[in-house]
Amino acid sequence: MASGRAHDRATLIGGAPIGMAAAVLWGADAGFIAAAGCLIGGLWLSPDLDTHSNALRRWGPLRGLWWPYRRLIPHRSLWSHGPLIGTALRLMLLLGWWVVLSLLIGWPTNAGLPQLVSWLKQQPQQAIALGIGLEASAWLHLILDGDPWPVEWSPRRLGQRRRR
Ligand SMILES: [Zn+2]
Repeated sequence: MASGRAHDRATLIGGAPIGMAAAVLWGADAGFIAAAGCLIGGLWLSPDLDTHSNALRRWGPLRGLWWPYRRLIPHRSLWSHGPLIGTALRLMLLLGWWVVLSLLIGWPTNAGLPQLVSWLKQQPQQAIALGIGLEASAWLHLILDGDPWPVEWSPRRLGQRRRR
């Protein structure tokens, strides 16, 4: 399993080719968004938010937002380190907090979500580029962990578990 610093380095290096690939496919805007998505994904939305990690520390006083995630999800479980599932769950948790916050301060009950959806629909390429950037950072993380499968899918580690 790679250290936090190795993950950070991979994120910083990986953002460039991912951004360039998106730029070639969809233009400079999308390239920039994909690279930013990769950086944000790796540095702030890392699968390792399920444990005390660099990514968690970067949230500073807001790190409590990830308390339920850390509490409920075992480190390197399918729910944090599963392809697509992990990224989707982290985004949903942030969205959940957003809705809670908007309810607390009395914003419209839909918390601006329909506007967000229609904004994403208006710029599908940018939205896809952002999603790809975020998910690519998760894949960089999984690959660097040396075993791109969550604990539940790894026969090797399941075997180790049973032997314990
Ligand atoms: Zn990890």
